[in-house]
Amino acid sequence: MLVLPVCSDDARAAEQAAEAINGHFSVYVGRALNPRLLLNSRSQVLAEPLLEELGSLRLRHCKLLGVTEQDITTEGTNYVFGLAELGGRAAVLSTFRLRCSERGKFRERLLKEALHELGHTFGLVHCTRSCVMRFSADVHGVDAKPASFCSTCMSSLTKFQSLADRI
Ligand SMILES: [Zn+2]
Ligand SMILES: [Zn+2]
Repeated sequence: MLVLPVCSDDARAAEQAAEAINGHFSVYVGRALNPRLLLNSRSQVLAEPLLEELGSLRLRHCKLLGVTEQDITTEGTNYVFGLAELGGRAAVLSTFRLRCSERGKFRERLLKEALHELGHTFGLVHCTRSCVMRFSADVHGVDAKPASFCSTCMSSLTKFQSLADRI
C-alpha cells in the first residue's frame, strides 16, 4: 500500500482531500505548504513553485500530494485544478474551483482530481476513454468523468505502483 502524505496550506482542505482519497491510498496529513510570495498579478498561486516546495520536503514517501485552497495556475493558462510531475514524485491540487455546496459532490471532485494528478506521477498521460485520466477543462468535465481508471490506465498504474512499492 502506498502511503501518501497530503501537505496543505490549510488543515481543513488537507483533511477533506485525505478523507476523499482514503481507501485508494493510505494518507497522512503532513506539514503546511507555504504558498505566499508565489502569487501572479491575478492573485493566483503559481503551481510550479508549489511542486518544487513539495519536492524539497524531507519526506521518504515515493509520492507527495500537496493540497491548497488557493486558486492555482501555470504560465499561459487561466487556472489549473492541479499539476503533477509526469512520472515524478510531486503533485499539487487546488480545492478552489472544485468547491460545491453539495458536500458529496465536492468530495467526489477532490477524489477524481487527486487520482488524476497522482496518475500523472505514475507516468499516466491524458486518456480519451471513460477514465479519471481524461482531461477536464472545467468542473462539468470533472463531474462527467468516472472516479476510476480505465482498464488500460489501471494496468499501467498497477505496474508502476508495484515498482514504487519496491523502492
Ligand atoms: Zn492531467
Ligand atoms: Zn484511461
